[in-house]
Amino acid sequence: MRVLMVEDDDAIAVPLARGLEREGFEVARAATGELALAAQDYDVVLLDLGLPDIDGFDVCRRLRAGSDVPIIVVTARGDEVDRVVGLELGADDYIVKPFGFRELIARIRAVTRRAQPRTDDLAPGTVGALTIDRRTHQVTMDDRALALTPKEFDLLALLAEQPGTVFPRAQILEEVWDAHWYGPTKTLDVHVAALRKKLGDPAWIETVRGVGFRLVEPPSEEAGSAG
Ligand code: CA
Repeated sequence: MRVLMVEDDDAIAVPLARGLEREGFEVARAATGELALAAQDYDVVLLDLGLPDIDGFDVCRRLRAGSDVPIIVVTARGDEVDRVVGLELGADDYIVKPFGFRELIARIRAVTRRAQPRTDDLAPGTVGALTIDRRTHQVTMDDRALALTPKEFDLLALLAEQPGTVFPRAQILEEVWDAHWYGPTKTLDVHVAALRKKLGDPAWIETVRGVGFRLVEPPSEEAGSAG
């Protein structure tokens, strides 16, 4: 992930860039507003408001006018008026100097996660003991790898996008199979049955009659067995 750091102060920019790089980010620095507006190919912007050439709020507004990239305003100005204005100009978040490095990392991760379209989110998702890694197409249950077919994986990954939410059969068929799937809808039931078996507990995938399916974490055996 590439971070555009817009910061004129070396005493802040240099150690911050080093820290971000240690966390695995690529950092491109712009020391002026002009350079920030000319920068390309980045996934998130850290924007200092006190810049030598263009006012940071103006930079924020112009960046936002040209792209949906997440913008975190980083500034020493901490009063409420500035906070509101910063967010109205299209910033996604706001952090006031001095700030903790961990807090900044958490905010970067939060705004970039929100910015990603649902289906392109490649971060491993977890539902209880279940982990689904969309990048490697690996599924683990309690750290044990499950061998799923590609369709079983796609089906599980879709349901896991919103655990607890019912996905209608038609939507599942359209997204996992084909936008023009006219084959037997029994195919879906066959895959659900196979997936339940591999997950080790049929309760993972709940059938909502007449509607569709949803992924739910089964209640653990220790908890709440009152009879
Ligand atoms: Ca500054």
